[in-house]
Amino acid sequence: MKSISDLGNLSGKKVLIRCDLNVPLDGDKITDDGRIRASVPTLNALREAGAAVIVLAHLGRPKGQVKPEFSLAPAAKRLGELLGQDVQLATDVVGESAQQLAAGLSDGDVMMCENVRYEPAEESKDEAERVELANKYAGLGADVFVSDGFGVVHRKQASVYDVAKLLPNAAGKLVEKEVEVLKQLTTETKSPYVVVLGGSKVSDKLKVIDNLLKTADTLVIGGGMLFTFLKAKGHEVGTSLLEEDQVETCKNYLAEADKLGKEIILPTDVVVAPEFKADAPATVVAADEMPADQMGLDIGPESAQAFANVIRSAHTVFWNGPMGVFEMAAFANGTREVAEALTKVDGLSVVGGGDSASAVRALGFADDDFGHISTGGGASLEYLEGKELPGLAALADN
Ligand code: ADP
Ligand code: MG
Repeated sequence: MKSISDLGNLSGKKVLIRCDLNVPLDGDKITDDGRIRASVPTLNALREAGAAVIVLAHLGRPKGQVKPEFSLAPAAKRLGELLGQDVQLATDVVGESAQQLAAGLSDGDVMMCENVRYEPAEESKDEAERVELANKYAGLGADVFVSDGFGVVHRKQASVYDVAKLLPNAAGKLVEKEVEVLKQLTTETKSPYVVVLGGSKVSDKLKVIDNLLKTADTLVIGGGMLFTFLKAKGHEVGTSLLEEDQVETCKNYLAEADKLGKEIILPTDVVVAPEFKADAPATVVAADEMPADQMGLDIGPESAQAFANVIRSAHTVFWNGPMGVFEMAAFANGTREVAEALTKVDGLSVVGGGDSASAVRALGFADDDFGHISTGGGASLEYLEGKELPGLAALADN
């Protein structure tokens, strides 16, 4: 991977950059601008080098259709505020509007194309279709490509993978920083290395455990995935989130951990409620005595304490996935306790995952309370799984 400083003199050049500006919105209001802020250092470096910058990014899942609710307008506005300079947004991705804006750029200017996922070819499985679109991106007058959208580097998509192969390229500062931290988590980990997993994408996240059982000392399981583990241990889980077809996988992991002398720590108590509702009456029950008509929405207080103790005594911690439905105050305690413990780690603490990052900010923690807050959940998990990430593999070696 090259750095932007390896790209030579960028003054007067047009730089095409893939950023990850996929921020959570409430209407047209950004509820967490973390990913936009994380994109600023690279953009500033490019402007200071005298380049004109064309930003490619996506928002949500418009699935190849132009849908105004997925417009990048809020992101363009916020980016402009953070850069202290207007960021013009084209009304299309690679059409007349984008071409005109790109042609009119002066050194130091920053423009954005509309949501790349408005184009059906962006996420196409057909390589020829993607390459055709990638050629249109490059055809906006780009001299070089910079890959800085860490949250999408695990995707083989036109603006991530194919376009990188068409132009001289480099990794942006954000991608470099993310990869450096992930390297530390796979090669130079200081023991005890504790991994905390939670959230709701159960089957996606179970896959990473295979590799983590080799690298980590202890796995701590909370969030929606804990119920599939409880079931694997023979407990009933009421109406909780459960992936029945993954119970066997969880059984195997528990057996494998035993064999390797690793620990998989599950909660001993759970906060349950009859409904998935903010004001549903919440009670604490033992994890092996969950009532049939209740669902688990957070880890219990005893478990939160136990998890926090394990985390605090670690020298390396990776955390992905909230411990409970933190969006509702009654079920946010587990996530808060775990976040608090991470801030006390003597060593490297990493938070990964879109919702996990939003959770720590929503709960009032500052970014620099942690060693690193990753902008990419899926990407960091796939890296830790040991998979090759297409968006990194496509970048030139030197
Ligand atoms: P991340 O984005 O950090 O990778 P996920 O997307 O996998 O995390 O999961 C985040 C979501 O998981 C949150 O919206 C949270 O409400 C939900 N969640 C956590 N615990 C539970 C639970 N016990 N039942 C249902 N949903 C849960
Ligand atoms: Mg998420």
